[in-house]
Amino acid sequence: MSQVTPRSLTLRYVVALGLIALLSIVSHFVLTETLRANEGGAAIINMSGRQRMLSQRISALADDLHRGDEEVREPLVTAVRQFADAHRVLAGLASRQEGATVAERRLYDIYYGPGEIDRLARRFLDAAEAEVALPQEGHGPAAADEIGNLRNLSILSRGPLLAGLEEVVAIHQSVSEVRAQQMERIQWGILAIVLLTLAFEVLFIFRPMVRRISEYVGQLLDLADHDYLTGVLNRRAFTALAEAEIQRARRHDRPMSLLLLDVDRFKQVNDFHGHLAGDEVLCGVAQILDMQGRREDLVGRIGGEEFAILLPETSLAGAIDVADRVRETVAGEPFMAAGKALSITLSVGVTEVDRTSPCGVVTAMARADQMLYHAKSAGRNCVRPFRGSILPIRNAAKRSEPVLADSRVLGASGEGIG
Ligand code: GH3
Ligand code: MG
Ligand code: MG
Repeated sequence: MSQVTPRSLTLRYVVALGLIALLSIVSHFVLTETLRANEGGAAIINMSGRQRMLSQRISALADDLHRGDEEVREPLVTAVRQFADAHRVLAGLASRQEGATVAERRLYDIYYGPGEIDRLARRFLDAAEAEVALPQEGHGPAAADEIGNLRNLSILSRGPLLAGLEEVVAIHQSVSEVRAQQMERIQWGILAIVLLTLAFEVLFIFRPMVRRISEYVGQLLDLADHDYLTGVLNRRAFTALAEAEIQRARRHDRPMSLLLLDVDRFKQVNDFHGHLAGDEVLCGVAQILDMQGRREDLVGRIGGEEFAILLPETSLAGAIDVADRVRETVAGEPFMAAGKALSITLSVGVTEVDRTSPCGVVTAMARADQMLYHAKSAGRNCVRPFRGSILPIRNAAKRSEPVLADSRVLGASGEGIG
């Protein structure tokens, strides 16, 4: 596995989040722009539609004023002012030439080219303002100018001006629709980029990151459960797993046994050959224990030179066989440590796990430990099984006290280990 430092993991994470943040900012601005463009488009369409309506209203109010209805003067003045204001805005928009689209160029033609809306609207406004300017008593059937004004207003508002203004509304609508479609395309484009970026991040940033983290967690859990020197389960993990196995065996009423194995006179290995040699011996013993067992057996190092093996589906007789086989294998071949061949032996305490009482791993360990004590007292390099009651120990030698070396199992150096 290539080395991934916390720094590089943080960097990847920051890059991934940064990309998402950047895309969110871009899409925010595009959405804002879309809304602004839509609002602007709607206002222009509204204004040009109202222009059409105002032209009809001005013409009708001027007619009423002409007939002497003074009450319409004020509304007429307002309508004329609104028409003039809106015309300034719309004519200004139509006059833009730079970067104009086809529709916008058509708008220019309508206002300033053949359509002449600008000129017609000015004429219309002049006629309407002239009508408003006439004094109250001036209104009456006689004034020729007045009649001319009215006719102008009426003709313009129903004829070319109305037709032109209708076309202006249609053009503004189509300009707005085109712009909305453009914005929609941009939004879809951004959405596609966001999704692609997320997919990219998942595939090339988050997935490898999660895989690395899982690998690290696996390694940490492995380190937490295994003995650093020998690689077999450590005491904590062995005890926890063995307890679970024992409870399972009890539920299914299946046999299960426990071996406790201690290297004989191991202190002497350290004393005569050094701690490194002692470590090598411990690794060798652990390897043999691991290889001798089945896949479902649990092997743990529960003390300095003390190991335990939990044997599922194994009765006491079977466990004694296993213990003897392991003991013979260890005693049978010399251990190469510190460049020397060392004879190593094991003492083993064996017990079958009690299925009739709720005792767990602690009780089983205690019984196996008692039997290990018996094995040490019996001269070491032997197996002692628990058969229902614990016998008093003859010679009552403490386990920690060295017992005389047995030349059958220890080295020929006279020191016990050679
Ligand atoms: P007995 O036959 O009664 O078991 O005698 P013993 O010498 O094996 O037992 P004792 O308890 O007197 O000594 C155990 C020694 O194991 C003492 C300690 O220094 C050594 N030891 C414990 N852990 C390690 C380890 O990780 N590496 C090495 N090299 N030695 C260790
Ligand atoms: Mg020992
Ligand atoms: Mg010991």
